[in-house]
Amino acid sequence: MNHFEPIDGILHAEEVSLIDLAETVGTPVYVYSTATLERHYRVLAEAVAANGKALGDVLIAFAVKANSNVSVLATLARLGCGADTVSEGEIRRALKAGIPASRIVFSGVGKTDGELAYALDVGVRQINVESPSELDRLIVVAERSAACPDIAIRVNPKVGAGGHAKITTGGEGDKFGIPVDEALALYARAASSHHVRPVGLACHIGSQITDLAPLEAAFVLLRQMTMTLREQGLEVSRLDLGGGLGVPYQGGAMTAAPADYVAMAARVLDGLDVDAVFEPGRLLAANAGILLSRVIQITERAADADGSGRRFLVLDAAMNDLIRPAMYDAFHEVVPVTPRSGEAVSYDIVGPVCETGDTFARDRTMPPVQPGDLVAFTGAGAYGAVMSSEYNTRPLVPEVLVRNADWAVVRPRPSYEDILDREATAGWLVKA
Ligand SMILES: *Cc1c(COP(=O)(O)O)cnc(C)c1O
Repeated sequence: MNHFEPIDGILHAEEVSLIDLAETVGTPVYVYSTATLERHYRVLAEAVAANGKALGDVLIAFAVKANSNVSVLATLARLGCGADTVSEGEIRRALKAGIPASRIVFSGVGKTDGELAYALDVGVRQINVESPSELDRLIVVAERSAACPDIAIRVNPKVGAGGHAKITTGGEGDKFGIPVDEALALYARAASSHHVRPVGLACHIGSQITDLAPLEAAFVLLRQMTMTLREQGLEVSRLDLGGGLGVPYQGGAMTAAPADYVAMAARVLDGLDVDAVFEPGRLLAANAGILLSRVIQITERAADADGSGRRFLVLDAAMNDLIRPAMYDAFHEVVPVTPRSGEAVSYDIVGPVCETGDTFARDRTMPPVQPGDLVAFTGAGAYGAVMSSEYNTRPLVPEVLVRNADWAVVRPRPSYEDILDREATAGWLVKA
């Protein structure tokens, strides 16, 4: 499990004991490993380098939405990683983390005029246009700003893929991207404007894709479209290949290897003379993080006439801290920090939130635990903390970044005063 391994029987993050961390910071808490983040980036960068010039001058742009903590972004920035962003807030985070605007791509189906103006103002590398009406608005905003941004047209290749219907983005009925013929026409129209400069095409067909075939189909389509546009005398110098490569959430799960994925892209793009952009999110961050939680209690419910008995493992983490199981039926392994001996037990693992959806797993067989024990949800570094909320007025889950034996709280847990002070009582409700 990457850099989360037991030392003397206690699960550690790199060289930091999760028992010590839980005692100092409290639980629940996300814990990220610098070494894993760095290793994942390097695996991808080395695969790119191994394929020579086939992919041109490559930008690896981390999809900020997967884990937008500024220290996580800064860790990747130091390795040369760029950012794929979907809002002004994410652009601001990337800049704060030291990622230069020249390595920031701005994507997303609903960029406002204000966000577009901001992106032009800071001078992002490229804006991925996702609809004809967005192009119209961008042209107006660019004219007003006297800017001429590089743009890519996001194509919907009609190959949807991904681990769950809610994370499939390239299918015919999905809201993302522009159908092929319309995208070709829009590219030509953009080329005739003095206010934008079309430089390429983009796609992103889904997330948690474990098989290369749908990705290859999309890349082949981008190649064909590039040739079609060039036959019309239009310039195409960049292909944004999106993200979406899946990760193993369970020991033994099969996913395509990053090196095979990059080699496939190089094979498809070879000789095309374009610069490729990769936008991995989950691939870099998922297995670089865990969610550490403490067992509050174990509630046994005896079998009755209607059904079998159940054993609920009630944790201090809940769906507001990690929503993937409730939202995508996602699987996360839950491992005790200090495993006890004894036979494996079947638990329904739940949080304290007042919703039946606050269930992390049903009938999960794992080593026995007792109230007060610590457990870790593995593979929680992507789409974990970023989707957390304060539902049930549970303080926003904090984040810790570990580096060797060092660690830092990179997002503190708010106090109840912090939470209450953010709200105001309407004047007419205040007693005179
Ligand atoms: C979400 C997203 C990504 C990253 O997806 P992963 O599955 O996390 O790799 C990349 N590009 C775009 C446009 C996205 O919306």
